[in-house]
Amino acid sequence: TLFLDRIERLDAALNAFITVDRDGALEAARAADARLAAGDAGPLTGIPLAHKDVFCTEGVLTTCGSKMLANFVSPYDAHVVSLLKAAGAVSLGKTNMDEFAMGSSNENSHFGPAKNPWDTTRIPGGSSGGSAAAVAARLVPIATGTDTGGSVRQPAALTGVTGIKPTYGVVSRYGMIAYASSLDQGGAFGASAADCAQLLTAMAGFDPRDSTSLERPAEDYSRELAAQAAARPLAGLRIGLPKEFFGAGMADDVRSAVEAALDEYRALGATTVDVSLPNAQLAIPAYYVIAPAEASSNLSRFDGVRYGHRAPEYRDLAEMYSKSRAEGFGAEVKRRILVGTYVLSHGYYDAYYLQAQKLRRLIAQDFQAALAGCDIIAGPTSPTTAWAIGEKSDDPVQMYLSDIYTIAVNLAGLPGLSHPCGFGAGELPVGLQLVGDYFSEARLLNAAHRFQ
Ligand code: GLN
Repeated sequence: TLFLDRIERLDAALNAFITVDRDGALEAARAADARLAAGDAGPLTGIPLAHKDVFCTEGVLTTCGSKMLANFVSPYDAHVVSLLKAAGAVSLGKTNMDEFAMGSSNENSHFGPAKNPWDTTRIPGGSSGGSAAAVAARLVPIATGTDTGGSVRQPAALTGVTGIKPTYGVVSRYGMIAYASSLDQGGAFGASAADCAQLLTAMAGFDPRDSTSLERPAEDYSRELAAQAAARPLAGLRIGLPKEFFGAGMADDVRSAVEAALDEYRALGATTVDVSLPNAQLAIPAYYVIAPAEASSNLSRFDGVRYGHRAPEYRDLAEMYSKSRAEGFGAEVKRRILVGTYVLSHGYYDAYYLQAQKLRRLIAQDFQAALAGCDIIAGPTSPTTAWAIGEKSDDPVQMYLSDIYTIAVNLAGLPGLSHPCGFGAGELPVGLQLVGDYFSEARLLNAAHRFQ
């Protein structure tokens, strides 16, 4: 009950949770005690955690941050949720998020913004802002999130915790409410890389119910962390610094924290080399064609018939659809559905969607070329520290630009991690992003672990 009591005491100021499942948690904790007593403990038996409210949880509300699903109780668990139950973890509840995971600040939540525990007048980042805030405020030791364009790494950076998005296909998307299916990937938040490694180990794994789930042998992502401590534990590690990630646009306080972190990496034995991702600046435009296109298709299932909100009054079926969607979706979600249907429509498809797919391929090729000359790529996670609530709400393009360093990684399907690397102005946390080749999660986690 230590964590449940902290939630009760502190969450009113943070709004990190949409649902706190006290009864379910206590029941699961008793079951965990019984398993321990019987000598049948799983890897996470008795460890409290929280799930981003995008993961379906049987018998517990799953809102996806939307009015559309404000009363939705899923009849089944997401694959991630059932794996973590089986590992013995105890879910304390569901965390706040931008509606349908669309946003970078958590301000698009129907349930009001989550707050940054370092300064509650500031945003925690998004879209998994509630999970990040909950871990940062120690309301839970670990939490799940999803990352379509940065939604694990960016809030981790802005709240001073560690977050990892694995290679696309490592974590099953079954029961994870879809935003942009070719980019969506479950990820892990923790206070340290070691915690993230344990959580990721438990939530990863092949699932035939997700057609893009990868059939690979199970991995222990903590395996490299156990190695003997050495004076220069990262000797031989080549860290590539993409010049495009160190140009104008990065705030001075972020730059100095990142430079200091790189010095620390050199002291640990790593060497740094300059690399280039020449098409990196095309990632945001490509993403804001592809992600809305996929969203417009995925969100067509919310029609007032099968799930969630239905308008109370309508004249015919068409009006029921349109009123239910008009009432159920927030402004950002509507904007993306409109953009998505536009770029997919006849006559515009070739000009937008097809071009964006070509850019996506070029961006993925850039990473392969850069990774040919280094083991991991490092840079800032976010160009600034956490901004004030309301500061960017009226300017979607400014909001989109805050993901400038994270989005390319999703387009390429690569694993990415953000770990705290110091503080900027006003004692606000700064994150360092590490990106590696496909399936290099254990290496990224080890580097972050040695740094910590
Ligand atoms: N901020 C990005 C968006 O709004 C990414 C969100 C995410 O990763 N879910 O789409």
